[in-house]
Amino acid sequence: MIKKKYALIPVMPTPNGPLHLGHLAGPFLKMDILARHLRILGHYVSIVSATDPYESHILPVCKKESKDELTVCKENYSNINKCLENLSIKYDNFINPLDDEYREKLFEITKKIIIQVLKDGNFSQKDEAIHFNSRTNDIVVASRIAGICPSCNANMGGYHCECCGQEVSPEELIEPYDTENKDDVLKISRTSTLFIDSDYEYISKRMIDCNVPDEIKNIVSVYIKKHGPLVRISNPGDWGIKLKDIVRTDSEDVVFTYTNLISLAILCGEEIKKNLNIEYNPLSKDSDCIVVGSFGFDNTIPFCLSVDTLANLSDEFRGFDYYLTNFFYTLDGKKFSTSRRHCIWGYDALEILETNSDIIRLYLSVTSPELKKTNFSTDEFNEFRNKIQDFMISINEDKLYKPLNIDSVCNCSFFKESLRVIKKSLSLENFSLQKSGKTIINWIENSEIDQDVKVLGFALLSTSIMPGISDKIISNIEGFDDSLLNEIYS
Ligand SMILES: [Zn+2]
Repeated sequence: MIKKKYALIPVMPTPNGPLHLGHLAGPFLKMDILARHLRILGHYVSIVSATDPYESHILPVCKKESKDELTVCKENYSNINKCLENLSIKYDNFINPLDDEYREKLFEITKKIIIQVLKDGNFSQKDEAIHFNSRTNDIVVASRIAGICPSCNANMGGYHCECCGQEVSPEELIEPYDTENKDDVLKISRTSTLFIDSDYEYISKRMIDCNVPDEIKNIVSVYIKKHGPLVRISNPGDWGIKLKDIVRTDSEDVVFTYTNLISLAILCGEEIKKNLNIEYNPLSKDSDCIVVGSFGFDNTIPFCLSVDTLANLSDEFRGFDYYLTNFFYTLDGKKFSTSRRHCIWGYDALEILETNSDIIRLYLSVTSPELKKTNFSTDEFNEFRNKIQDFMISINEDKLYKPLNIDSVCNCSFFKESLRVIKKSLSLENFSLQKSGKTIINWIENSEIDQDVKVLGFALLSTSIMPGISDKIISNIEGFDDSLLNEIYS
């Protein structure tokens, strides 16, 4: 088998709080499972991500907690890290781009990208309406503005609708209001914003190449029908990388951080370059790395339209090769919400749900919101946990401390079929956590398999999804090592 190089760059979370199970079930867990699977197959893999510190949703947190941006970003970087670790989601590096080591690098990458993108005059200044609070005279943009989505009529805040996934300009919001004081009256002022034109034909082709599902492609085509293939480069605000620090302009705007996700990805790529011991950034034009990204559907426009447009216009970089996407995940039928305390955070999920990370990982896999909204049901989870726990206890008692026979598993036809399904559903072309998770459950529930075969087969099938228990069983087998696991999977 040819060993390939994989650069995995999961979506960059906003450091405005920890991650809840909705986040983790979306773009995070799947990338850890993919990394583990590709490593078993013998490929060179590095998985690196960062927070997105210039996202405006950190600003209300600063105000509420009376802390500066650096402190909020640092504290939540650490909270997010704990959530990932608690579910055994392992990154080679997880970057806080505001750390001294990275801040200047991110600025330089952004500068390079923006200069390359604007160099041929391929941009337009668009006159936009922005809102001000008429009492306080503050600008009300980004995280501070909310209203009704013009596309789907759901309540939304900021630039991206969590109901339909659309990117919405502030002037398009219906019944806009200031989230800091709903009753204050808003007044309108005009501002000039920088946009670049994308090439829809190119974007459409790229989405096919990146294996983006039709449900996600549809979000891009709805956006383009309404706005044309416009990519926002700047937005009003104080927090972020100032446009005037990069190019000659009178604008007080900052670089639109969602469009600039490409620079964060390149920053992650610099760490991957070291980890894989290669000479080039995995996102550079001549790279032979397979670069995989993941994001939730409300980040569709930033990734599928903006990142790819900037990559296409840059001299040096290119876009991702694959995108793994997800829809919304609810908790007991309702949106996860911190303010309503309707939430399970990653860092204390094990205590609250009285379980271990393996069982949560399996449940999040089988309920993964791959192509539509799915739900974490607490009752259903409790039943699920008890069933899997019973099986895990039976392993601990009887089987864990005696040698297990590998041949008897590998010759079992049900094992062969299950392994085939796992391998297919963890491949980039057919990636489905639901299918691979269900295959493990079918294996556990099959009453016709001899218990010894069942235990070892389970360990071999669940090694990427349930690494804790799988490693424990496998490490107990005399002479078993990674090369044998690789042989079984090859
Ligand atoms: Zn909407």
